[in-house]
Amino acid sequence: MICIPITAKTNKEALQKIQRSCLLADFIELRMDLIADGNLDELIVAIRNTAGSVKIIVTCRKKDEALAAKELPDGSQTINKEIGKMDLLKKAISMKADFVDIELTEGTAAIGELRDYCEKRGRVTGIIVSYHDIEKTPSLARLKEIFNNCLESGATIVKIVTFAESAEDNLRVLSMIPYAQKHSQKIIAMCMGPQGRISRIIAPFLGAYLSFAALDSGAQSAPGQLTVRQMRQINNQIQGNRLPLNPESVLSSGQGLQNYVLLGNPVAQSLSPAMHNAALKEMGIDGRYNAFCVADLEDAIHGIKGMDISGASVTIPYKVSVMEYLDEIHEDAQKIGAVNTIVNNNGRLTGYNTDWFGLMLAIRQLMSVKGQTFVILGAGGTARAAVYGIIKEGGLPIIVNRTIKKGKVLADEFNCPCYSLADLGKIKADCLINTTPVGMYPHTDQTPVEAKMLTGYKYVIDVIYNPLKTRLLCDAEGQGCRIISGLDMFVHQGAEQLKLWTGIEPSRALMKKVVIERLGKIES
Ligand code: NAP
Repeated sequence: MICIPITAKTNKEALQKIQRSCLLADFIELRMDLIADGNLDELIVAIRNTAGSVKIIVTCRKKDEALAAKELPDGSQTINKEIGKMDLLKKAISMKADFVDIELTEGTAAIGELRDYCEKRGRVTGIIVSYHDIEKTPSLARLKEIFNNCLESGATIVKIVTFAESAEDNLRVLSMIPYAQKHSQKIIAMCMGPQGRISRIIAPFLGAYLSFAALDSGAQSAPGQLTVRQMRQINNQIQGNRLPLNPESVLSSGQGLQNYVLLGNPVAQSLSPAMHNAALKEMGIDGRYNAFCVADLEDAIHGIKGMDISGASVTIPYKVSVMEYLDEIHEDAQKIGAVNTIVNNNGRLTGYNTDWFGLMLAIRQLMSVKGQTFVILGAGGTARAAVYGIIKEGGLPIIVNRTIKKGKVLADEFNCPCYSLADLGKIKADCLINTTPVGMYPHTDQTPVEAKMLTGYKYVIDVIYNPLKTRLLCDAEGQGCRIISGLDMFVHQGAEQLKLWTGIEPSRALMKKVVIERLGKIES
């Protein structure tokens, strides 16, 4: 995931940069120490209004941990706003920023104060406890000690950034990523400086939580930082070697138009064409995605080969029946028993399922799956994807379906319990996921579960994204549950399709924005 730090000489300039960054970034870091006259309220509201899915980090770096002004590519000065730093970070927490960043050197009392402040406000904001050494890279033993100190201070994410004096320094800092993973701890780890550039490229592949990239050349907030464009190009080159399509061929101008299709019936209401076409354009791919209402699936599949279509999405009612026409089925799709994505690799068609992973990515934004109990309402294709993903990520699914016989077939296959809808009140679980179409437009007054049945759940998720907030989710919010709409699942499953077809990471923020616009609603 890419984070663009915002630095600017005026608040107005920062607002302009936010507009552009929202289309490219997964995270935006508001560097309040590097935005002169930065108005936190305005900046956060601008990000939320432009792209609700982009996560916000608020940082106010101490002068001695920020880069030296002389290192800045455009020679701009560090605008040091130390006054009221804690108040500023608390304000960010009150405004529900996703993360605030505080240096380890601020001390355990200050970090503890922020942690308590977050907890009192429902723990919406996570704390990045960061360590910077702008001159050198400490020994491995010292890095581990720093990591443990960050961990003990209660960091949601540990951030370790040092200055690389030699190429070997990168190895020590990067080795902190697997070290953090062994402690089940999220980490951002990289080196600054020209010698540290390589660490910025490798860190995401090792599992770093995010990497920083500048919006434009000259807008770097740290020495050695690459631009978003450079980062994307390099990532795509590297990823391309292990993906079914060769992105170089996709991107080469001589290759001509890449065609992608949606196969389903009906498809007229689908938002996938708008979402995918916007993403393809932003990715710089000469491609077109069209929806086809399919009457004869076998003919349509022959058409994919005959017309040299690079990839296809598959939707209702063909997700299961399409499997018999494909040359190969990926293991996940095989186990789920449904395909929603086809990749055409020189005439050889492989089926994938990105629904399960899209749902997991959406869930991970709010909670961790491991050890949690999930009631899955429904036993259709989406329920299968949900059950598969939850088990794969260490959660415990319980199936609840209108037709108990159908529910039991799924439950037996995945070795999990199954109840009828009438018994829903007897179940205790952390999260409820609706995978039925009940409540979908135009039947927006309907809900699969009465509001009073939702009281025991910490989280309620609806896979429906039209409307963005179904009656189920409104009721759940009313009962104090945290909610996730089907929009994030929809965007992630689509983004994973694009990655399979092109080898390129699309802008999920842009995709989400397009869907919201199409739905004619602005997320609050
Ligand atoms: P499906 O295979 O037809 O399964 C639907 C399930 O819902 C069945 O188990 C059915 O129960 C249950 N159901 C239907 N009407 C019901 C009612 N009135 N009361 C109680 N249960 C009812 O459908 P699907 O492919 O899984 O799709 C389900 C929903 O997920 C759709 O709304 C679809 O748009 C959405 N979806 C969203 C995404 C996304 O990216 N956000 C992705 C895929 C699907 P029975 O077994 O009793 O018939």
